[in-house]
Amino acid sequence: SAKQRGKDNWVRFAPGMERPVVADAQLGADLRRGLEAGEFRVVYQPLVDLHLNRVIGVEALVRWQHPTRGVVSPADFIPAAERTGLIVPLGRFVLRETCRQAAQWLAEFGPEVLQKAGPNVSARQLHDPDFVDDVRAALADSGLPGELLVLELTESAVLRGQQVSRALHELHDMGVRLALDDFGTGESSLSLLRAFPASIVKLDKSFVDGIELDDDGTPEAAARQAVARAVIQMAGALDLDTVAEGIENEEQAERLRRLGYSLGQGFHLAEPMSPAEVGAMLAGQRVADAA
Ligand code: C2E
Ligand code: MG
Ligand code: MG
Ligand code: MG
Repeated sequence: SAKQRGKDNWVRFAPGMERPVVADAQLGADLRRGLEAGEFRVVYQPLVDLHLNRVIGVEALVRWQHPTRGVVSPADFIPAAERTGLIVPLGRFVLRETCRQAAQWLAEFGPEVLQKAGPNVSARQLHDPDFVDDVRAALADSGLPGELLVLELTESAVLRGQQVSRALHELHDMGVRLALDDFGTGESSLSLLRAFPASIVKLDKSFVDGIELDDDGTPEAAARQAVARAVIQMAGALDLDTVAEGIENEEQAERLRRLGYSLGQGFHLAEPMSPAEVGAMLAGQRVADAA
């Protein structure tokens, strides 16, 4: 909480203070400085085939290597980056870096291990009139085929407006795939899918948490499984791929496999890691294949 981080002046505020305004001014200046100083980097969390136990792709997650605060997690700066608009240059950096890195892995390891690579994209980026051109340029400059790029969008990012809808259809026409992130947590997940050219839905971690505890008899446990089952059925009917997020133990992985999930992500499978660590993991997988 902000209280626990009271020493960090950009998150320190008293109850009733105008938190976003005060905090954003300071954090915004620090973000801008950090961007210019090259303090942001991208880590990658493997996407794993739950049946073959193999990496088939990665999600790109941004990190801030802050000179005095150490590694800052996105939860602590993405909201302010969105409010200040700095998410646009920051997101462009993550997009370009992801495409560059993914193209390199594709060349090194081949298309079986790199079927999907993708950054998260915020509402503010989707509203930026240059966004589609930025994606086109990132693909052209890196040589990454559009089909490998998966843009992760949340429902709240997608909900608003004609312009966003047009951008999403243009991206879809370029072959880029769109994933609905944190699926099931929004208010209109189902109606959104009709209007939105999505290829992938990512079942939110909140439905994976505790999914292995089937027989505790609580309505919550029953509801989680019902949602996970409904999402996989819906995805099958609409011909969408599914990814289960936040898998933390083998019992959850097994339960999800039995429900029909074939792709997963989570600390139990692999944590977010540096590009060098991903490279080592992919190289190890290739050696295992050859054996
Ligand atoms: P997300 O897109 O849903 O990403 C998944 C988050 O869950 C990541 O946190 C990941 O480290 C974490 N995670 C993965 N497996 C597990 C698990 O088994 N257990 C637990 N407890 N957590 C797990 P991270 O990297 O801190 O990112 C948090 C959120 O920040 C992301 O949620 C995404 O919404 C946002 N974000 C991250 N990078 C970017 C970015 O470059 N641009 C934008 N716009 N948003 C970003
Ligand atoms: Mg995501
Ligand atoms: Mg997610
Ligand atoms: Mg999430």
